[in-house]
Amino acid sequence: MKSNIIQEITTGNYDGEKIVYAGITHYKFNDCAPQDLVFCGEKQVHKELAKAFIEMQKAAKKDGITLEIVSGFRSKEYQKTIFPCKFKDKLNPSEEEFIARLKYSAPPGFSEHHTGLAIDINSLEEDFADTKEYKWLLEHAESFGFEMSFPKNNSQGLGFEPWHWRLKNK
Ligand SMILES: [Zn+2]
Repeated sequence: MKSNIIQEITTGNYDGEKIVYAGITHYKFNDCAPQDLVFCGEKQVHKELAKAFIEMQKAAKKDGITLEIVSGFRSKEYQKTIFPCKFKDKLNPSEEEFIARLKYSAPPGFSEHHTGLAIDINSLEEDFADTKEYKWLLEHAESFGFEMSFPKNNSQGLGFEPWHWRLKNK
């Protein structure tokens, strides 16, 4: 029974409103409407996020801080290709592999990146938390409408992602 659910989630066929597994919670998100997507640098994001990010990027630059989007909008279809990428048997992971992955990566249909209203900034490494860019974000991002989705000890039980920021109340 368990392995069926793991497979359903991994392949993007699970249709619940949220996934709760081994103390980890992921919520369902719909793909951004194509007419709301724009390029911001090289990455596609929701037009509202682009507006807010460009303002923030300008302010950061004045302080000598460079902010770049390294990951923006990702469709559910695309997430189907990246969620299983680290599994030995791609669409049939062991429970152990699945839980380890679930902590840092959202299954297809459950990533904030689907909305276009969440981005990864500069890095995908935990030591981003030691940079001046991260410290600048902690001080200023909120005033541009951003919040960190997965701070340390977040209620969803996900790993700390200092690079992942979303527009608030979206
Ligand atoms: Zn992210």
